This record gives sequence, structure tokens and C-alpha cells, in this order.
Amino acid sequence: MDSYAVGYARPDRWSRSRPEDTVSSSWHAVEAHRPPAELDGEVELAACGAIVQVWGAHRWDRVGARETACAECKQLTRPQLSHAS
Ligand SMILES: [Zn+2]
Repeated sequence: MDSYAVGYARPDRWSRSRPEDTVSSSWHAVEAHRPPAELDGEVELAACGAIVQVWGAHRWDRVGARETACAECKQLTRPQLSHAS
């Protein structure tokens, strides 16, 4: 089950209040309290605190592996597999 949706920071929309700090990493993890498809298009708070718009068609477990994803979100959502037996 997905516990995170993918959020996209939209500099075109948010740059007036937050110049530049959302530009370098566009993809963020959003804690999904509902299925990501239901959150599609919603504006939510990402795990790292950025304000993003949910992109329900994407899966964080894929997007989060990309370099363009937010490093902070990647760290916060990293599965705790290292301790799994
Ligand atoms: Zn983030």
C-alpha cells in the first residue's frame, strides 16, 4: 500500500512568496492519508514542509529514486529496510 503520494512544486505558482527555494528539487513526498489518486490535484504539505500540488499519476517509490526528487523527502521516506531480517 502506498503511504506517500507524489507532489510537484510549481515555481510558476509559488515563486512569488518563496523565490527559488523550490526550484532545484521539484518532486516531493506527500503523506497520503487517502489513496494518491484521490489526492490528485490537491495542494498539500510535503514531508519536508514544501507546499506542493499532488500529482496522483506518479508513484513516490519511483519518483523518489530520481535525482530530481527532493533530497529531504527522500531521506524522510526512506524505507527502514536496513534492519529487516
Ligand atoms: Zn521535499
